[in-house]
Amino acid sequence: MTKYIFVTGGVTSSLGKGIISASLAKLLQARGYRVTIQKFDPYINIDPGTLNPYEHGECYVTEDGAETDLDLGHYERFLNAPTSQANNITTGRIYQNVINKERRGDFLGKTVQVVPHITDEIKRNMRILGESGNYDIVITELGGTVGDIESLPFIEAVRQFKWEEGPTNAIVIHLTLIPFLAAAGELKTKPTQHSVKALLEYGIQPDILVCRTEHHISQDIRKKIALFCNVNVNAVIESIDASSIYSVPLLMMKEHLDKTVLSKLKLPNKNEPDMESWKDFLGRLKNPTAEVKIGLVGKYVELPDAYKSITEAFIHAGAKNECKVRVEYIPSESINADNVKEKLGHLQGVLVAPGFGSRGIEGKIEAIKYVRTNDVPFFGICLGMQCAVIEFGRNVLGLSQANTTEIDESSKHPVINMMEGQKNVTAKGGTMRLGAYPCDIKKGTKAYQAYGKQHITERHRHRYEFNNAYLKQYEEAGMQASGINPESNLVEIIELKNHPFFVGGQFHPELKSTVANPHPLFVKFVAAAMEHAEKKTK
Ligand code: GLN
Repeated sequence: MTKYIFVTGGVTSSLGKGIISASLAKLLQARGYRVTIQKFDPYINIDPGTLNPYEHGECYVTEDGAETDLDLGHYERFLNAPTSQANNITTGRIYQNVINKERRGDFLGKTVQVVPHITDEIKRNMRILGESGNYDIVITELGGTVGDIESLPFIEAVRQFKWEEGPTNAIVIHLTLIPFLAAAGELKTKPTQHSVKALLEYGIQPDILVCRTEHHISQDIRKKIALFCNVNVNAVIESIDASSIYSVPLLMMKEHLDKTVLSKLKLPNKNEPDMESWKDFLGRLKNPTAEVKIGLVGKYVELPDAYKSITEAFIHAGAKNECKVRVEYIPSESINADNVKEKLGHLQGVLVAPGFGSRGIEGKIEAIKYVRTNDVPFFGICLGMQCAVIEFGRNVLGLSQANTTEIDESSKHPVINMMEGQKNVTAKGGTMRLGAYPCDIKKGTKAYQAYGKQHITERHRHRYEFNNAYLKQYEEAGMQASGINPESNLVEIIELKNHPFFVGGQFHPELKSTVANPHPLFVKFVAAAMEHAEKKTK
Protein backbone atom coordinates (compact mmCIF):
# COMPACT_ATOMS: atom_id res chain seq x y z
CA MET A 1 0.00 0.00 0.00
CA THR A 2 1.32 3.43 -0.95
CA LYS A 3 1.90 6.03 1.74
CA TYR A 4 1.49 9.75 1.07
CA ILE A 5 3.43 12.76 2.27
CA PHE A 6 2.21 16.28 1.55
CA VAL A 7 4.57 19.22 1.72
CA THR A 8 2.98 22.63 2.26
CA GLY A 9 4.62 26.01 2.69
CA GLY A 10 3.87 28.83 5.10
CA VAL A 11 4.94 32.39 5.91
CA THR A 12 6.56 33.15 2.55
CA SER A 13 7.27 31.67 -0.84
CA SER A 14 10.75 30.58 -2.00
CA LEU A 15 11.48 28.57 1.16
CA GLY A 16 12.70 25.66 -0.94
CA LYS A 17 9.84 23.17 -0.69
CA GLY A 18 11.18 21.49 -3.82
CA ILE A 19 14.61 20.93 -2.30
CA ILE A 20 13.18 19.68 1.01
CA SER A 21 10.85 17.31 -0.85
CA ALA A 22 13.70 16.06 -3.04
CA SER A 23 16.02 15.68 -0.04
CA LEU A 24 13.49 13.68 1.93
CA ALA A 25 12.78 11.54 -1.13
CA LYS A 26 16.51 10.95 -1.55
CA LEU A 27 16.87 9.74 2.05
CA LEU A 28 13.88 7.41 1.74
CA GLN A 29 15.16 6.11 -1.58
CA ALA A 30 18.59 5.56 0.00
CA ARG A 31 16.87 3.35 2.57
CA GLY A 32 15.47 1.19 -0.19
CA TYR A 33 11.99 2.68 -0.55
CA ARG A 34 10.51 3.35 -3.99
CA VAL A 35 9.68 7.05 -3.93
CA THR A 36 8.40 9.67 -6.33
CA ILE A 37 7.53 13.33 -5.98
CA GLN A 38 4.74 15.26 -7.65
CA LYS A 39 4.04 18.96 -7.74
CA PHE A 40 0.59 20.56 -7.68
CA ASP A 41 0.65 24.18 -8.83
CA PRO A 42 -2.21 26.56 -8.14
CA TYR A 43 -2.03 28.65 -11.32
CA ILE A 44 -4.56 28.42 -14.13
CA ASN A 45 -2.20 27.72 -17.03
CA ILE A 46 -2.60 24.09 -18.09
CA ASP A 47 1.18 23.81 -17.76
CA PRO A 48 4.11 26.25 -17.58
CA GLY A 49 4.94 25.70 -21.27
CA THR A 50 3.46 29.03 -22.31
CA LEU A 51 5.04 31.03 -19.48
CA ASN A 52 7.89 33.45 -19.98
CA PRO A 53 10.89 32.20 -17.93
CA TYR A 54 10.74 35.48 -15.98
CA GLU A 55 7.45 34.28 -14.44
CA HIS A 56 8.41 30.93 -12.91
CA GLY A 57 11.93 30.21 -14.14
CA GLU A 58 12.80 27.48 -16.60
CA CYS A 59 10.23 25.14 -18.09
CA TYR A 60 11.41 21.59 -17.39
CA VAL A 61 10.60 18.92 -19.98
CA THR A 62 10.11 15.27 -19.03
CA GLU A 63 10.79 12.11 -21.07
CA ASP A 64 7.14 11.88 -22.09
CA GLY A 65 7.18 15.46 -23.35
CA ALA A 66 5.37 17.24 -20.52
CA GLU A 67 6.28 20.89 -20.01
CA THR A 68 6.55 21.19 -16.25
CA ASP A 69 7.63 23.20 -13.24
CA LEU A 70 11.36 23.50 -12.59
CA ASP A 71 11.03 21.63 -9.29
CA LEU A 72 10.64 18.42 -11.31
CA GLY A 73 14.22 19.02 -12.40
CA HIS A 74 15.30 18.90 -8.75
CA TYR A 75 13.34 15.69 -8.22
CA GLU A 76 15.09 14.03 -11.16
CA ARG A 77 18.54 15.37 -10.27
CA PHE A 78 18.24 14.11 -6.69
CA LEU A 79 16.52 10.78 -7.35
CA ASN A 80 18.10 9.95 -10.72
CA ALA A 81 14.68 8.72 -11.83
CA PRO A 82 12.45 10.13 -14.56
CA THR A 83 9.24 12.02 -13.87
CA SER A 84 6.28 12.38 -16.23
CA GLN A 85 3.16 14.39 -16.97
CA ALA A 86 1.52 12.81 -13.93
CA ASN A 87 4.13 14.44 -11.67
CA ASN A 88 2.96 18.01 -12.36
CA ILE A 89 -0.66 19.11 -12.14
CA THR A 90 -2.03 22.65 -12.21
CA THR A 91 -5.36 24.18 -11.27
CA GLY A 92 -5.85 24.70 -15.00
CA ARG A 93 -5.55 21.00 -15.74
CA ILE A 94 -7.89 20.08 -12.88
CA TYR A 95 -10.56 22.48 -14.15
CA GLN A 96 -10.02 21.39 -17.74
CA ASN A 97 -10.65 17.76 -16.75
CA VAL A 98 -13.74 18.64 -14.74
CA ILE A 99 -15.15 20.87 -17.48
CA ASN A 100 -14.53 18.20 -20.11
CA LYS A 101 -16.42 15.71 -17.93
CA GLU A 102 -19.26 18.20 -17.52
CA ARG A 103 -19.50 18.68 -21.30
CA ARG A 104 -19.55 14.91 -21.77
CA GLY A 105 -22.49 14.75 -19.41
CA ASP A 106 -20.75 12.90 -16.60
CA PHE A 107 -22.47 15.07 -13.99
CA LEU A 108 -25.81 15.25 -15.80
CA GLY A 109 -28.42 16.97 -13.65
CA LYS A 110 -25.94 18.11 -11.01
CA THR A 111 -24.46 21.50 -10.15
CA VAL A 112 -20.69 21.23 -10.66
CA GLN A 113 -18.88 22.81 -7.69
CA VAL A 114 -15.42 23.40 -6.22
CA VAL A 115 -16.38 21.01 -3.41
CA PRO A 116 -16.77 18.14 -4.21
CA HIS A 117 -16.03 18.10 -7.96
CA ILE A 118 -12.79 20.05 -8.09
CA THR A 119 -11.50 18.60 -4.83
CA ASP A 120 -12.41 15.07 -6.00
CA GLU A 121 -10.50 15.63 -9.23
CA ILE A 122 -7.50 16.91 -7.24
CA LYS A 123 -7.59 13.83 -5.00
CA ARG A 124 -7.92 11.54 -8.03
CA ASN A 125 -4.78 13.11 -9.48
CA MET A 126 -2.96 12.92 -6.15
CA ARG A 127 -3.50 9.14 -6.20
CA ILE A 128 -2.57 8.37 -9.83
CA LEU A 129 1.13 7.67 -9.22
CA GLY A 130 0.42 5.81 -5.97
CA GLU A 131 -2.08 3.57 -7.72
CA SER A 132 0.43 2.64 -10.42
CA GLY A 133 1.92 0.21 -7.93
CA ASN A 134 5.39 1.54 -8.68
CA TYR A 135 5.89 3.45 -5.45
CA ASP A 136 5.91 2.80 -1.72
CA ILE A 137 5.81 6.51 -0.97
CA VAL A 138 4.48 9.46 -2.97
CA ILE A 139 5.52 12.93 -1.89
CA THR A 140 3.21 15.72 -3.06
CA GLU A 141 4.53 19.25 -3.01
CA LEU A 142 1.86 21.94 -3.00
CA GLY A 143 2.90 25.10 -4.79
CA GLY A 144 2.09 28.47 -3.23
CA THR A 145 1.79 29.50 0.41
CA VAL A 146 -0.92 28.44 2.86
CA GLY A 147 -3.48 31.20 3.01
CA ASP A 148 -3.35 32.05 -0.70
CA ILE A 149 -6.83 32.15 -2.19
CA GLU A 150 -5.83 30.08 -5.17
CA SER A 151 -4.41 27.14 -3.22
CA LEU A 152 -7.51 26.65 -1.04
CA PRO A 153 -9.02 23.77 -3.07
CA PHE A 154 -5.70 21.90 -2.86
CA ILE A 155 -5.52 22.37 0.91
CA GLU A 156 -9.12 21.18 1.26
CA ALA A 157 -8.28 18.16 -0.92
CA VAL A 158 -5.34 17.34 1.39
CA ARG A 159 -7.62 17.57 4.43
CA GLN A 160 -10.07 15.12 2.87
CA PHE A 161 -7.28 12.87 1.64
CA LYS A 162 -5.75 12.66 5.10
CA TRP A 163 -9.11 11.84 6.62
CA GLU A 164 -9.82 9.17 4.01
CA GLU A 165 -6.41 7.50 4.23
CA GLY A 166 -5.95 7.77 7.98
CA PRO A 167 -3.19 9.35 10.03
CA THR A 168 -0.53 6.70 9.39
CA ASN A 169 -1.02 6.62 5.62
CA ALA A 170 -0.97 10.33 4.82
CA ILE A 171 1.00 12.98 6.67
CA VAL A 172 1.62 16.68 6.21
CA ILE A 173 5.00 18.34 6.47
CA HIS A 174 4.72 22.10 6.77
CA LEU A 175 7.70 24.20 5.77
CA THR A 176 7.96 27.54 7.56
CA LEU A 177 10.38 30.35 8.23
CA ILE A 178 11.96 31.25 11.58
CA PRO A 179 13.20 34.79 10.91
CA PHE A 180 16.14 36.25 12.81
CA LEU A 181 15.61 39.80 14.04
CA ALA A 182 19.07 41.27 14.08
CA ALA A 183 18.09 44.26 16.27
CA ALA A 184 16.67 41.95 18.93
CA GLY A 185 19.30 39.28 18.28
CA GLU A 186 16.54 36.70 18.35
CA LEU A 187 14.90 33.99 16.27
CA LYS A 188 11.17 34.52 16.07
CA THR A 189 8.60 31.73 16.13
CA LYS A 190 5.41 33.78 15.81
CA PRO A 191 5.14 33.64 11.99
CA THR A 192 5.34 29.84 12.25
CA GLN A 193 2.65 29.75 14.92
CA HIS A 194 0.40 31.88 12.72
CA SER A 195 0.96 29.82 9.66
CA VAL A 196 0.16 26.59 11.52
CA LYS A 197 -2.94 28.35 12.86
CA ALA A 198 -3.93 29.11 9.25
CA LEU A 199 -3.56 25.42 8.38
CA LEU A 200 -5.61 24.46 11.44
CA GLU A 201 -8.40 26.78 10.28
CA TYR A 202 -8.57 24.67 7.14
CA GLY A 203 -8.73 21.55 9.26
CA ILE A 204 -5.16 20.35 8.87
CA GLN A 205 -2.84 19.60 11.76
CA PRO A 206 0.68 19.33 10.32
CA ASP A 207 2.60 16.27 11.51
CA ILE A 208 6.08 17.68 11.02
CA LEU A 209 7.40 21.24 10.82
CA VAL A 210 10.51 21.95 8.80
CA CYS A 211 11.80 25.34 9.90
CA ARG A 212 13.97 27.35 7.52
CA THR A 213 16.44 29.45 9.46
CA GLU A 214 19.71 31.33 9.15
CA HIS A 215 20.78 30.36 12.70
CA HIS A 216 20.62 27.13 14.67
CA ILE A 217 17.37 26.62 16.54
CA SER A 218 17.92 25.89 20.22
CA GLN A 219 16.15 23.13 22.13
CA ASP A 220 14.08 25.78 23.92
CA ILE A 221 12.83 27.23 20.68
CA ARG A 222 12.02 23.76 19.38
CA LYS A 223 9.99 23.09 22.54
CA LYS A 224 8.17 26.36 22.16
CA ILE A 225 7.27 25.67 18.53
CA ALA A 226 6.19 22.13 19.46
CA LEU A 227 3.98 23.36 22.28
CA PHE A 228 2.23 26.07 20.27
CA CYS A 229 1.86 24.03 17.11
CA ASN A 230 0.76 20.70 18.65
CA VAL A 231 3.66 18.60 17.34
CA ASN A 232 6.29 16.44 19.05
CA VAL A 233 9.59 18.15 19.74
CA ASN A 234 11.34 15.64 17.46
CA ALA A 235 8.95 16.68 14.70
CA VAL A 236 10.40 20.20 14.71
CA ILE A 237 13.12 19.96 12.10
CA GLU A 238 15.74 22.63 11.60
CA SER A 239 16.57 23.47 8.01
CA ILE A 240 19.49 25.83 8.17
CA ASP A 241 20.78 27.73 5.11
CA ALA A 242 23.24 25.56 3.23
CA SER A 243 26.03 26.51 0.85
CA SER A 244 24.76 23.97 -1.68
CA ILE A 245 21.33 22.45 -2.24
CA TYR A 246 23.13 19.11 -2.44
CA SER A 247 24.06 19.37 1.26
CA VAL A 248 20.41 19.47 2.28
CA PRO A 249 19.77 15.68 2.26
CA LEU A 250 22.62 15.19 4.75
CA LEU A 251 21.40 18.07 6.91
CA MET A 252 17.92 16.50 6.92
CA MET A 253 19.43 13.16 7.82
CA LYS A 254 21.19 14.74 10.79
CA GLU A 255 17.83 16.12 11.90
CA HIS A 256 16.28 12.63 11.48
CA LEU A 257 13.61 13.90 9.10
CA ASP A 258 13.46 10.53 7.34
CA LYS A 259 13.23 8.59 10.62
CA THR A 260 10.48 10.82 11.94
CA VAL A 261 8.56 10.42 8.68
CA LEU A 262 8.88 6.64 8.76
CA SER A 263 7.71 6.42 12.33
CA LYS A 264 4.66 8.63 11.59
CA LEU A 265 3.84 6.45 8.59
CA LYS A 266 4.45 3.28 10.64
CA LEU A 267 6.94 2.07 8.07
CA PRO A 268 9.89 -0.09 9.10
CA ASN A 269 12.94 1.93 9.86
CA LYS A 270 15.18 -0.87 8.63
CA ASN A 271 18.36 0.16 6.81
CA GLU A 272 20.19 3.36 7.50
CA PRO A 273 20.22 5.47 4.29
CA ASP A 274 23.08 4.50 2.03
CA MET A 275 24.40 7.95 1.13
CA GLU A 276 27.97 6.91 0.29
CA SER A 277 27.94 7.89 -3.39
CA TRP A 278 26.14 11.12 -2.53
CA LYS A 279 28.84 11.96 0.01
CA ASP A 280 31.46 11.10 -2.54
CA PHE A 281 29.85 13.58 -4.97
CA LEU A 282 29.72 16.26 -2.26
CA GLY A 283 33.36 15.63 -1.41
CA ARG A 284 34.39 16.26 -5.01
CA LEU A 285 32.06 19.25 -5.27
CA LYS A 286 33.52 20.88 -2.18
CA ASN A 287 37.21 20.12 -2.82
CA PRO A 288 37.90 21.13 -6.39
CA THR A 289 41.47 20.99 -7.66
CA ALA A 290 40.91 23.35 -10.58
CA GLU A 291 38.66 26.22 -11.53
CA VAL A 292 37.21 27.46 -14.81
CA LYS A 293 35.07 30.40 -15.76
CA ILE A 294 32.35 29.67 -18.28
CA GLY A 295 30.14 32.31 -19.85
CA LEU A 296 26.45 31.60 -20.22
CA VAL A 297 25.22 33.84 -23.01
CA GLY A 298 21.46 34.15 -22.90
CA LYS A 299 18.56 36.52 -22.93
CA TYR A 300 17.03 35.78 -19.51
CA VAL A 301 20.23 36.07 -17.47
CA GLU A 302 18.82 38.51 -14.89
CA LEU A 303 16.91 35.54 -13.46
CA PRO A 304 19.27 32.59 -12.94
CA ASP A 305 16.24 30.29 -12.39
CA ALA A 306 15.59 30.66 -16.11
CA TYR A 307 18.64 28.45 -16.71
CA LYS A 308 18.31 26.27 -13.61
CA SER A 309 19.04 22.91 -15.23
CA ILE A 310 22.08 24.27 -17.08
CA THR A 311 23.51 25.70 -13.86
CA GLU A 312 22.95 22.40 -12.07
CA ALA A 313 24.43 20.38 -14.96
CA PHE A 314 27.60 22.48 -14.58
CA ILE A 315 27.69 21.62 -10.88
CA HIS A 316 27.43 17.88 -11.65
CA ALA A 317 30.01 18.07 -14.45
CA GLY A 318 32.32 20.22 -12.31
CA ALA A 319 32.24 17.70 -9.45
CA LYS A 320 32.95 14.88 -11.90
CA ASN A 321 36.03 16.80 -13.13
CA GLU A 322 36.91 17.97 -9.58
CA CYS A 323 36.73 21.46 -10.97
CA LYS A 324 34.90 24.50 -9.68
CA VAL A 325 32.84 25.90 -12.55
CA ARG A 326 32.13 29.59 -12.16
CA VAL A 327 29.26 30.47 -14.44
CA GLU A 328 29.22 34.07 -15.60
CA TYR A 329 25.81 35.15 -16.90
CA ILE A 330 26.17 37.42 -19.92
CA PRO A 331 23.16 39.13 -21.53
CA SER A 332 23.32 38.31 -25.23
CA GLU A 333 22.00 41.77 -26.13
CA SER A 334 25.08 43.38 -24.60
CA ILE A 335 27.50 41.67 -27.01
CA ASN A 336 28.57 43.25 -30.30
CA ALA A 337 31.53 43.05 -32.67
CA ASP A 338 33.35 45.87 -30.88
CA ASN A 339 33.14 44.55 -27.34
CA VAL A 340 33.05 40.77 -27.81
CA LYS A 341 36.71 40.27 -26.88
CA GLU A 342 36.32 42.31 -23.74
CA LYS A 343 33.14 40.39 -22.82
CA LEU A 344 34.44 36.88 -23.52
CA GLY A 345 38.24 37.11 -23.62
CA HIS A 346 38.73 36.03 -19.99
CA LEU A 347 36.55 32.91 -20.23
CA GLN A 348 37.62 29.29 -20.69
CA GLY A 349 34.36 28.27 -22.30
CA VAL A 350 31.12 29.75 -23.61
CA LEU A 351 27.67 28.21 -23.55
CA VAL A 352 25.04 29.81 -25.75
CA ALA A 353 21.65 29.22 -24.20
CA PRO A 354 18.28 28.09 -25.50
CA GLY A 355 15.62 30.69 -26.16
CA PHE A 356 12.83 32.01 -28.32
CA GLY A 357 12.40 35.10 -30.48
CA SER A 358 14.79 37.60 -31.95
CA ARG A 359 15.97 39.57 -28.91
CA GLY A 360 19.72 39.08 -28.41
CA ILE A 361 20.24 36.75 -31.37
CA GLU A 362 22.88 38.90 -33.07
CA GLY A 363 24.87 39.02 -29.81
CA LYS A 364 24.78 35.24 -29.62
CA ILE A 365 26.03 34.97 -33.19
CA GLU A 366 28.82 37.45 -32.46
CA ALA A 367 29.84 35.43 -29.38
CA ILE A 368 29.94 32.24 -31.45
CA LYS A 369 32.09 33.85 -34.13
CA TYR A 370 34.55 34.85 -31.42
CA VAL A 371 34.82 31.42 -29.79
CA ARG A 372 34.96 29.63 -33.15
CA THR A 373 37.82 31.74 -34.45
CA ASN A 374 39.70 31.84 -31.14
CA ASP A 375 39.51 28.12 -30.29
CA VAL A 376 37.55 28.75 -27.09
CA PRO A 377 35.44 25.72 -26.09
CA PHE A 378 31.82 26.22 -27.13
CA PHE A 379 28.61 24.46 -26.27
CA GLY A 380 25.34 25.48 -27.93
CA ILE A 381 21.98 24.31 -26.70
CA CYS A 382 18.89 24.37 -28.91
CA LEU A 383 18.71 28.01 -30.06
CA GLY A 384 22.43 28.17 -29.19
CA MET A 385 23.09 25.35 -31.65
CA GLN A 386 20.89 27.01 -34.25
CA CYS A 387 22.89 30.24 -33.87
CA ALA A 388 26.11 28.28 -34.41
CA VAL A 389 24.68 27.00 -37.69
CA ILE A 390 23.68 30.52 -38.74
CA GLU A 391 27.09 31.93 -37.82
CA PHE A 392 28.91 29.23 -39.79
CA GLY A 393 26.61 29.80 -42.76
CA ARG A 394 27.25 33.53 -42.77
CA ASN A 395 30.95 33.66 -41.99
CA VAL A 396 32.35 30.41 -43.39
CA LEU A 397 30.01 29.45 -46.20
CA GLY A 398 29.50 33.06 -47.27
CA LEU A 399 25.69 32.84 -47.06
CA SER A 400 25.40 36.38 -45.77
CA GLN A 401 21.65 36.12 -45.27
CA ALA A 402 21.72 32.77 -43.48
CA ASN A 403 19.06 32.81 -40.77
CA THR A 404 16.39 30.89 -38.94
CA THR A 405 12.88 31.34 -40.25
CA GLU A 406 11.86 32.01 -36.66
CA ILE A 407 13.41 35.45 -37.15
CA ASP A 408 13.34 36.02 -40.89
CA GLU A 409 10.56 34.12 -42.59
CA SER A 410 11.66 35.14 -46.06
CA SER A 411 15.37 34.49 -45.52
CA LYS A 412 17.22 33.67 -48.75
CA HIS A 413 19.17 31.03 -46.82
CA PRO A 414 16.87 29.44 -44.24
CA VAL A 415 19.58 27.22 -42.74
CA ILE A 416 17.30 26.73 -39.75
CA ASN A 417 13.77 26.05 -40.82
CA MET A 418 10.43 25.28 -39.27
CA MET A 419 9.73 21.55 -39.20
CA GLU A 420 7.17 20.36 -41.78
CA GLY A 421 4.86 19.08 -39.09
CA GLN A 422 4.87 22.48 -37.35
CA LYS A 423 3.83 24.57 -40.32
CA ASN A 424 0.07 24.31 -39.78
CA VAL A 425 0.20 24.43 -36.00
CA THR A 426 -1.26 27.64 -34.58
CA ALA A 427 -1.94 26.71 -30.93
CA LYS A 428 0.98 27.48 -28.62
CA GLY A 429 0.45 25.12 -25.67
CA GLY A 430 2.18 21.72 -25.81
CA THR A 431 2.64 21.80 -29.59
CA MET A 432 6.43 21.94 -29.96
CA ARG A 433 8.63 18.93 -30.64
CA LEU A 434 8.67 17.78 -27.03
CA GLY A 435 10.19 15.01 -24.97
CA ALA A 436 12.65 12.21 -25.65
CA TYR A 437 13.72 11.30 -29.18
CA PRO A 438 16.40 8.85 -30.29
CA CYS A 439 19.66 10.03 -31.78
CA ASP A 440 22.44 8.04 -33.47
CA ILE A 441 25.97 9.24 -32.87
CA LYS A 442 28.68 8.98 -35.51
CA LYS A 443 31.84 7.22 -34.41
CA GLY A 444 35.06 9.21 -34.32
CA THR A 445 33.31 12.44 -33.30
CA LYS A 446 33.51 14.50 -30.10
CA ALA A 447 29.93 13.53 -29.40
CA TYR A 448 30.93 9.87 -29.57
CA GLN A 449 33.91 10.50 -27.29
CA ALA A 450 31.52 12.02 -24.77
CA TYR A 451 28.70 9.46 -24.87
CA GLY A 452 30.86 6.44 -25.59
CA LYS A 453 27.95 4.82 -27.41
CA GLN A 454 26.01 5.01 -30.64
CA HIS A 455 22.37 5.09 -29.59
CA ILE A 456 21.16 7.73 -27.19
CA THR A 457 17.95 9.62 -26.47
CA GLU A 458 17.67 13.25 -25.50
CA ARG A 459 14.79 15.60 -24.68
CA HIS A 460 13.59 18.28 -27.04
CA ARG A 461 11.57 21.50 -26.92
CA HIS A 462 11.57 23.47 -30.15
CA ARG A 463 9.81 24.11 -33.46
CA TYR A 464 12.80 24.78 -35.74
CA GLU A 465 15.49 22.47 -37.10
CA PHE A 466 18.65 22.31 -39.14
CA ASN A 467 17.65 22.51 -42.83
CA ASN A 468 19.01 19.34 -44.43
CA ALA A 469 19.14 21.01 -47.86
CA TYR A 470 22.36 22.65 -46.60
CA LEU A 471 23.89 19.63 -44.87
CA LYS A 472 26.30 18.65 -47.63
CA GLN A 473 27.65 22.17 -47.93
CA TYR A 474 28.19 22.39 -44.15
CA GLU A 475 29.90 19.03 -43.86
CA GLU A 476 32.25 19.78 -46.73
CA ALA A 477 33.31 22.98 -44.97
CA GLY A 478 34.00 21.23 -41.65
CA MET A 479 30.77 21.46 -39.67
CA GLN A 480 29.73 17.89 -39.13
CA ALA A 481 26.36 16.43 -38.18
CA SER A 482 27.59 14.03 -35.49
CA GLY A 483 24.15 13.08 -34.19
CA ILE A 484 21.15 12.26 -36.38
CA ASN A 485 17.62 11.18 -35.53
CA PRO A 486 17.40 7.71 -37.13
CA GLU A 487 13.65 8.02 -37.84
CA SER A 488 13.35 11.53 -39.24
CA ASN A 489 16.93 12.20 -40.35
CA LEU A 490 16.89 15.47 -38.42
CA VAL A 491 20.31 16.81 -37.40
CA GLU A 492 20.52 16.65 -33.60
CA ILE A 493 24.20 17.44 -32.96
CA ILE A 494 26.66 19.55 -34.91
CA GLU A 495 30.35 19.96 -34.24
CA LEU A 496 33.46 21.42 -35.81
CA LYS A 497 36.31 19.14 -36.79
CA ASN A 498 39.12 21.66 -36.47
CA HIS A 499 38.35 23.10 -33.09
CA PRO A 500 39.22 21.93 -29.55
CA PHE A 501 35.53 21.72 -28.58
CA PHE A 502 32.72 23.20 -30.61
CA VAL A 503 29.52 21.23 -30.13
CA GLY A 504 25.84 22.16 -30.46
CA GLY A 505 22.80 20.06 -29.61
CA GLN A 506 19.29 20.62 -30.92
CA PHE A 507 18.06 18.92 -27.71
CA HIS A 508 18.39 19.93 -24.06
CA PRO A 509 21.12 17.78 -22.48
CA GLU A 510 20.85 19.75 -19.23
CA LEU A 511 17.49 18.11 -18.50
CA LYS A 512 19.06 14.70 -18.12
CA SER A 513 22.03 15.59 -15.93
CA THR A 514 21.75 14.19 -12.40
CA VAL A 515 24.03 13.85 -9.38
CA ALA A 516 24.44 10.14 -10.11
CA ASN A 517 24.77 10.66 -13.88
CA PRO A 518 26.36 13.97 -14.85
CA HIS A 519 25.63 14.63 -18.51
CA PRO A 520 28.53 13.43 -20.72
CA LEU A 521 28.47 16.51 -22.99
CA PHE A 522 28.70 18.84 -19.99
CA VAL A 523 31.48 16.69 -18.51
CA LYS A 524 33.46 16.90 -21.77
CA PHE A 525 32.78 20.60 -22.17
CA VAL A 526 34.10 21.34 -18.67
CA ALA A 527 37.12 19.13 -19.36
CA ALA A 528 37.75 21.11 -22.56
CA ALA A 529 37.52 24.37 -20.60
CA MET A 530 40.08 23.00 -18.12
CA GLU A 531 42.42 22.13 -20.99
CA HIS A 532 41.93 25.57 -22.46
CA ALA A 533 42.90 27.12 -19.10
CA GLU A 534 46.00 24.97 -18.89
CA LYS A 535 47.06 25.86 -22.42
CA LYS A 536 46.64 29.54 -21.59
CA THR A 537 48.80 29.37 -18.45
CA LYS A 538 51.51 27.50 -20.37
N1 GLN B 1 13.30 28.99 -30.66
C1 GLN B 1 13.94 27.83 -31.15
C2 GLN B 1 12.96 26.81 -31.69
O1 GLN B 1 11.80 26.84 -31.38
C3 GLN B 1 14.80 27.20 -30.07
C4 GLN B 1 14.03 26.71 -28.89
C5 GLN B 1 14.90 26.42 -27.70
O2 GLN B 1 16.02 26.93 -27.60
N2 GLN B 1 14.39 25.64 -26.77
O3 GLN B 1 13.34 25.96 -32.47
